[in-house]
Amino acid sequence: MPIYEYHCDQCSKDFECLVFRSDEVPECPTCKGRHVKKIMSACGFLSKGAGGETVSSSAGASSCGSCTASSCAGCGH
Ligand SMILES: [Zn+2]
Repeated sequence: MPIYEYHCDQCSKDFECLVFRSDEVPECPTCKGRHVKKIMSACGFLSKGAGGETVSSSAGASSCGSCTASSCAGCGH
């Protein structure tokens, strides 16, 4: 089950949400607003595309700080 990170424009909260369809827009759990944006996981991109060097130079552990064990399969965290 995919878990995505979202950012709410109304209350500036970040939250994670289980989505069943990729085009589905969840409502913000804090303000119940629908002005949310999906946050692309940076570490997912890096671990797929970089093959090593980019990960060590610009990513590292800090860019994976927002990942949880269940939400970031790409980086292994
Ligand atoms: Zn909100």
